[in-house]
Amino acid sequence: MSDIQSPIADREVIAASLARVRDRVAEAARAAGRDPAEVTLVAVGKVHGVTYIEGALDAGQRVFGENRVQEAEGKFPALKAAHEDLVLHLIGPLQTNKAREAVQLFDVIETLDRPKLARALAKEMAKTERRPACYVQVNTGEEPQKAGVAPAAADALIALARDELGLPVEGLMCIPPFDEEPAPHFALLATIAKRNGLAKLSMGMTADFEIAVRFGATHVRVGTAIFGAREPR
Ligand SMILES: *Cc1c(COP(=O)(O)O)cnc(C)c1O
Repeated sequence: MSDIQSPIADREVIAASLARVRDRVAEAARAAGRDPAEVTLVAVGKVHGVTYIEGALDAGQRVFGENRVQEAEGKFPALKAAHEDLVLHLIGPLQTNKAREAVQLFDVIETLDRPKLARALAKEMAKTERRPACYVQVNTGEEPQKAGVAPAAADALIALARDELGLPVEGLMCIPPFDEEPAPHFALLATIAKRNGLAKLSMGMTADFEIAVRFGATHVRVGTAIFGAREPR
């Protein structure tokens, strides 16, 4: 099971941090003339142990993100059994040989970024009742070390995954370059989503979620501002 050695979470601190982040998301939405209910907070508890997730669950949080399949397998099956309404997003790179496990455990797979993975997910979904929603990850900064389809290849991947393979592609996801203004990246993601008729936009993290909301994010993925700094793995 989980080999994560986090200290025990302070639930009151998590509850207060969550409330603060929710307020900031709502405020950013209102400032942009949007309904706060349009923005879902995805709480990213990666690296932190199960007690952190439980603390957030106690505070009413139900949508979580994890970036490693194996880590999520150690933490979430029991929590999902106890909370039927828990929604789990995969936000990290997915190897095709983990497609089966990902389809079993996750409700949303945000990191579909290549044809081979689209085919592997279609094959696994055909074998089970489970059809997790898929978001296509776009490498908006065209960074060689980063996952995601190049912006110029995004339309073709969406067409393959959604129209040819029949995957439930619902949105797009991006992680802007660490050292650049995020706004142009969020704007680019929104443009690609719009021209492909995709409604969901997963963008924005602790450092920039308010800007992402201004550019139309429907999902912001926030870890540090909720759970605190992460120890190195
Ligand atoms: C870790 C992670 C986050 C959360 O990052 P914070 O800066 O801690 O909010 C969001 N998205 C992805 C893809 C991540 O890996």
